[in-house]
Amino acid sequence: MAGKVIIISAPSGSGKSTIINALMKEGKLNMQFSVSATNRAPRGAEQNGVDYHFLSTEEFQQAIADDAFLEYEEVYPGRYYGTLKSEITRIAAAGSNIVLDIDVNGGIRVKKLLGEQALALFIEPPSIEELQRRLSSRATDSAESIRQRVERAAYEIEQGNAYDIRIINDDLAEAVKAADEAISKFLAD
Ligand code: ADP
Ligand code: 5GP
Repeated sequence: MAGKVIIISAPSGSGKSTIINALMKEGKLNMQFSVSATNRAPRGAEQNGVDYHFLSTEEFQQAIADDAFLEYEEVYPGRYYGTLKSEITRIAAAGSNIVLDIDVNGGIRVKKLLGEQALALFIEPPSIEELQRRLSSRATDSAESIRQRVERAAYEIEQGNAYDIRIINDDLAEAVKAADEAISKFLAD
């Protein structure tokens, strides 16, 4: 069935993108990413319209005023992220299931909104120390950005209790397998 929503949240640096990309590559789950909007700057090789719709703060505020978002959050101070309603419509019209890579506050809100139509999956690192190591080795974030991400991780891990399924990303292959099984089961029901 198409039009189901898979919410995936994790402390930044846990390996969420790595896991989702591995699942997308397999291609069998008929899922497409909802491309969020943000006012943060592109990181590394990120492309506008592919990784995010990169907006100025003014454009983001205008989109809020236009009621363009299903949800949005100030995830880090001054840094806004939001799920565009137009993305949900686009993906559902294409006959695919929708992947929302969103923060814990947005994830819990959307899960409440959609109930059984959504699967809420939380990915966590084996430890905060390992999270810090992964963020440093990814080498895409400034020291300040890494500090903010690590600082928020404990709060996010606590919120993970509200999710349908939690997966610890220690061994990557095992984490991909666990996510694959959970999503396949949800889409088959
Ligand atoms: P997120 O999307 O959660 O912010 P990424 O997928 O960018 O995180 O992963 C952060 C870093 O950790 C990347 O450099 C990635 O290659 C690495 N990584 C991902 N999963 C693992 C794992 N199981 N073990 C070790 N390193 C990992
Ligand atoms: P990053 O800057 O690492 O790409 O993302 C930072 C955080 O913002 C991650 O937790 C990511 O899931 C979250 N995020 C990305 N898009 C959205 C969105 O549309 N809504 C919400 N609420 N969070 C988002």
